[in-house]
Amino acid sequence: MIENSSVHKLQIIKPDDWHLHLRSGETLKAVLPSTIKWANRAIIMPNLDPPIVNIDDVKNYFQEIKRNIPSGVNFDPLMTLYLTETTKIKDILEGYKSGIVKAIKYYPSGATTNSAKGVKNIKNVYKVFDVLSKIGMPLLIHGEVTSENIDIFDREKVFIEQILDPLRNKFPDLKIVFEHITTTDAIDYILNSEKNLAATITPHHLIINRNSMLVGGIKPDFYCLPLAKREKHRLALVKIATSGSEKFFLGTDSAPHLEQNKISECGCAGIFNALNAIPCLAQVFDNENLLNNLEKFVSLNGPKFYDLPVNKSKINIVKYNKSQNFLKFINTSEGRIRVFNPNLKIYWNYT
Ligand SMILES: [Zn+2]
Repeated sequence: MIENSSVHKLQIIKPDDWHLHLRSGETLKAVLPSTIKWANRAIIMPNLDPPIVNIDDVKNYFQEIKRNIPSGVNFDPLMTLYLTETTKIKDILEGYKSGIVKAIKYYPSGATTNSAKGVKNIKNVYKVFDVLSKIGMPLLIHGEVTSENIDIFDREKVFIEQILDPLRNKFPDLKIVFEHITTTDAIDYILNSEKNLAATITPHHLIINRNSMLVGGIKPDFYCLPLAKREKHRLALVKIATSGSEKFFLGTDSAPHLEQNKISECGCAGIFNALNAIPCLAQVFDNENLLNNLEKFVSLNGPKFYDLPVNKSKINIVKYNKSQNFLKFINTSEGRIRVFNPNLKIYWNYT
């Protein structure tokens, strides 16, 4: 990291995004430029409609993404398979050997957008966890229970008790990424784990709490899953993300939805933040006087957990005297997608 304080310029190793929704078709075309501007690699989520459940789906989706990367631009999509109770071991092994598939995504059935085909009974996928443990491929977990009787704000905490802890005891060699954590319960659990457990944290969960969404009128733009929680949880997330701890790294969970689907009677969960993720994060770290740990969170801790090389290229970001205005939405041929508005003065931007 090279810091030049006189012009407030920061050069860091090019980041990666360890949790990204690109969708497909026109949406993919519209959102991809926002990520490849600053990320060298991204873990691509498989919850398309229909989801990416076998090796042929993965290869086709990989090619679709590659076709949309302009020539001369380096961006590696790190593909994932959507775990179902009928996932074939041979598909995992073929994806692993080909180098295309970097992780398997576990959605409890019904937890979020397009998760209906997810896992209902975890025992039915134990054979997959055996294989992942042997080959060292991470399991990415959407860590919320979905039972009707569990309050939606408690779903992450209960998931740790009912699913994650027993799973880790049964499969101690399984590498797990606890995705988009939102609670002190998750932070404490990860800090107390010895090995093979890390977490991604989103920019929006570092900036908004549940009041941001619910006070003074409902703000569908801040509706995402897992939901933002109380302020004490947000403060704990900021503290751990900015601490430099190797167990925590960036996954934007940038999740585009067309405006007409998000702002509706039954609006979709998801926040499109790829466009301003790094400026928002730089501001969060700056506000804590911990900019020296930004590179760890966005560029170093992720590859270390995934056993991948650190990127060689760098990016520059600059702190301007005036707070920055970002695009409010991006257009697709099917409608527009609203960009995350952090309601926080952001002085950082790309050069
Ligand atoms: Zn996600």
